[in-house]
Amino acid sequence: MKDISCKLLVIGAGPGGYVCAIRAGQLGIDTVIVEERKPGGTCLNVGCIPSKALIHAAEEYDRIVHLASGANPLGIRTTQPEIDLSQTIAWKDTIVGRLNSGVSGLLKKSKVKMVQGRARFRDGKTVEVETETGRQIIRAENVVIATGSAPVELPSLPFGGTVISSTEALSLTSVPDRLMVVGGGYIGLELGTAFAKMGAKVTVVEAQARILPQYDAELTRPVSKRLQALGIEVMTRAKAKGLAKGGSALLVETESGSEVSLPADRILVTVGRRPVTQGWGREELVLDMDGPFIRIDERCRTSMRGIYAIGDVTGEPMLAHRAMAQGEMVAEIVAGHQRVWDKRAIPAVCFTDPEIVAVGMTPDEAHKIGSEVRIGQFPFAANGRAMTRLGEEGFVRVVARADNHLVLGIQAVGQGVSELSAAFGLAVEMGARLEDIAGTIHAHPTQGEAFQESALKSLGRELHI
Ligand code: FAD
Repeated sequence: MKDISCKLLVIGAGPGGYVCAIRAGQLGIDTVIVEERKPGGTCLNVGCIPSKALIHAAEEYDRIVHLASGANPLGIRTTQPEIDLSQTIAWKDTIVGRLNSGVSGLLKKSKVKMVQGRARFRDGKTVEVETETGRQIIRAENVVIATGSAPVELPSLPFGGTVISSTEALSLTSVPDRLMVVGGGYIGLELGTAFAKMGAKVTVVEAQARILPQYDAELTRPVSKRLQALGIEVMTRAKAKGLAKGGSALLVETESGSEVSLPADRILVTVGRRPVTQGWGREELVLDMDGPFIRIDERCRTSMRGIYAIGDVTGEPMLAHRAMAQGEMVAEIVAGHQRVWDKRAIPAVCFTDPEIVAVGMTPDEAHKIGSEVRIGQFPFAANGRAMTRLGEEGFVRVVARADNHLVLGIQAVGQGVSELSAAFGLAVEMGARLEDIAGTIHAHPTQGEAFQESALKSLGRELHI
């Protein structure tokens, strides 16, 4: 196989890698991208997209179950629905397939050469790819490591048999009767909620004192309430110790220190993700590390000249949109543009029921950096659109500096608030003041009005409460 030389080589075609390659191609950089699996990475194949497809199907099913119960106030009568999970999964796979082709098409359009196979550094400028037809040597002036992350495996609960990761959970073709979820972070709760809505009896085992510990308790309260309403049992300060009864039960150490054996058809382990820092020849390089992650500077440069790293392999928050923004920036840096990582805020969305959005600082974080803050909070119970959607649970909260009203952070919990994340991100990124949000005409009736009202409330000028 003839050797290839290029200006930019990207290893990994997840959201970080493929965006980097597309932008580089657009800028006329001679670019090659190597991917061992499918274009789109974790996000498109076994992460963001498939999980949201499953969540949507579960929500639709749950809505009809609720309507069929006769207890709904909308005046709609229907009969009990059924769900065929194998068909749901087939539908999800067609969406993933269409997007896989979409990513390949975009790379092609940007004149990026795609090589299928596993990449491995030989030295800082040379990478060897094991392809189906042989070894391909690629020499590059610049290399971007975008190898992403993988599910963390617990030594006491190795994957296999009844023990599954999020990857397998997204391809189950029947709803397990009893699902144990180990880890009450966003991935476990999103999937646990979806399976509970589809009829599984779900138990969440969380080692910490509460679920979603990265969000403040006020934001997670409506989610806890809904989990309870869905019949999901949440065991906090509890530790999964291993399998019992030949794999058909989970051994759990409860808060009181006693051990219980809980029957389970599936045990979904979602205790975090680890960066993929092995299997691509890191040992041939001298890269400084930051704990388990590759250390990068504000230009995503590693400690080796000409080698960049982006996305999950570089640290928290492990989110697709962070990876994409880093990828775009690195392509521009390689093209000679003056770019640094100057993002004020990376939105974090939790697609639970209700959803949570957080951008920038929470009140506690603002206090910690010594800012005197004003907080405006507006409940969806006072928002007309939320009422008409039976979504009165939750609120929008704006955190701003007390002196000059600069918005430091915005959080919300409520039905469909993920779609408000763009407005929240824009406000923080552009350095909006409370007056900017309060003075923007928000369409009526929308949930976005709660955003405007929270700014008005902070200024002591609320109109609808
Ligand atoms: P990845 O997407 O992990 O891509 C890395 C790619 O590199 C992979 O395709 C891999 O095959 C390839 N690779 C690795 N080593 C090699 C090698 N040696 N040679 C060739 N190729 C290689 N994030 C959000 O922002 N929103 C969400 O709603 C969301 N939901 C999620 C739900 C689930 C269930 C999971 C698991 C994750 C979710 N995430 C979400 C996280 C998101 O998927 C990641 O943050 C994102 O995919 C990281 O992108 P990346 O480009 O860094 O790496």
